[in-house]
Amino acid sequence: MIEIRGVQKHYGDYHALRGIDLTIRAGEFFSLLGPSGCGKTTLLRTIAGFEDISDGVVLIDGQDMEGVPANSRPTNMVFQSYAIFPHLTVAENVGFGLRRDPRSKAEKAAAVEEALEMVGLKGFGNRASHALSGGQRQRVALARALILKPKVLLLDEPLSALDRKMREQMQVELIKLQRQVGITFVLVTHDQEEALVMSDRIAVMFEGQIAQLDGPEALYARPASRRVADFIGVMNFLPARIHGDTSDGVEVEVPGLGRVEIPAANVSKADPGDEGPTVGFRPEAVSIVTSGQPATVGRTTPGVIDEVVYYGDMTYYDVRLDGSEGFDGKARPIRIAMRNVFGREVQDVGTRANVSWSPGSLV
Ligand code: ATP
Repeated sequence: MIEIRGVQKHYGDYHALRGIDLTIRAGEFFSLLGPSGCGKTTLLRTIAGFEDISDGVVLIDGQDMEGVPANSRPTNMVFQSYAIFPHLTVAENVGFGLRRDPRSKAEKAAAVEEALEMVGLKGFGNRASHALSGGQRQRVALARALILKPKVLLLDEPLSALDRKMREQMQVELIKLQRQVGITFVLVTHDQEEALVMSDRIAVMFEGQIAQLDGPEALYARPASRRVADFIGVMNFLPARIHGDTSDGVEVEVPGLGRVEIPAANVSKADPGDEGPTVGFRPEAVSIVTSGQPATVGRTTPGVIDEVVYYGDMTYYDVRLDGSEGFDGKARPIRIAMRNVFGREVQDVGTRANVSWSPGSLV
């Protein structure tokens, strides 16, 4: 649906997009994810036609978008600010884009009603827009965009102004809506959890470039670099020394963990800023084995609990593994996430604990 080839964007001396290549499939929920200033909004705006590109090609539905103004593109954008007219009713806001539509008044009203129903605002048409809640404004903005039946809906941090509960609710509703209408959605967000929850595929961007493009599970389980791993969720990192290649990966020595074979699929290339080889693993890929309970996975390493943070459903432990001071003598406690299932006691600081882990979960 969208093909971006070699796209560059300069703002004077500033190089905001540094060669973006990207294909977004029809009907896909696609996210551009990255820290503030990485260029994700700029990229979205180049798709929308609000921004000229300095070099490269943007194709939408097979058509070169060069010189095509925003209002002639098969795209529509939902802004972070919603941009709702406070002096118009909900229905007038939603129907705003149909002003020059040749359909009859009754047909337009039916289209407005249909769009409102789609976003869960059936019967809200006569309400004053200024009195709406944040979540309702968001829905009005969506309905206003969807009524124009774009091929691509561009969403620029649409949920960032909502409180946590509302945001989570809207995330689920947006996924359902996208499936229902079948339009290609391109979402810009700096919130990694939001991207993981909502997207079919995610492009992670740093400094005007794509660092990784993958589905949520692949991105989380096999980040392509330390930087991506660090940006998406929590990752433990330990220094490693490479012993050599094996038939199915690389053998490394990791202080605290000993010799481990990392599967080839989990090995990634170094980033320019990396300080030598590192292994990483997620807090939920390791667990504390309490006395009398057998290890659930692979191998077990003893250590001491340094810190306990209780979250209700989860407890986070920082554990210093025996021998983990390793090559440079620095202690590097690892973080372990344990689900608080019924009957499992929360451990105390200072307790000795066995940590169970699996070599297959290391990257
Ligand atoms: P945020 O989440 O903070 O909006 P972002 O990843 O969306 O960040 P962009 O808004 O795309 O980032 O901006 C990328 C870079 O380009 C930033 O350093 C920004 O300051 C710069 N930039 C964006 N628009 C302009 C402009 N009109 N003139 C000059 N520089 C700009």
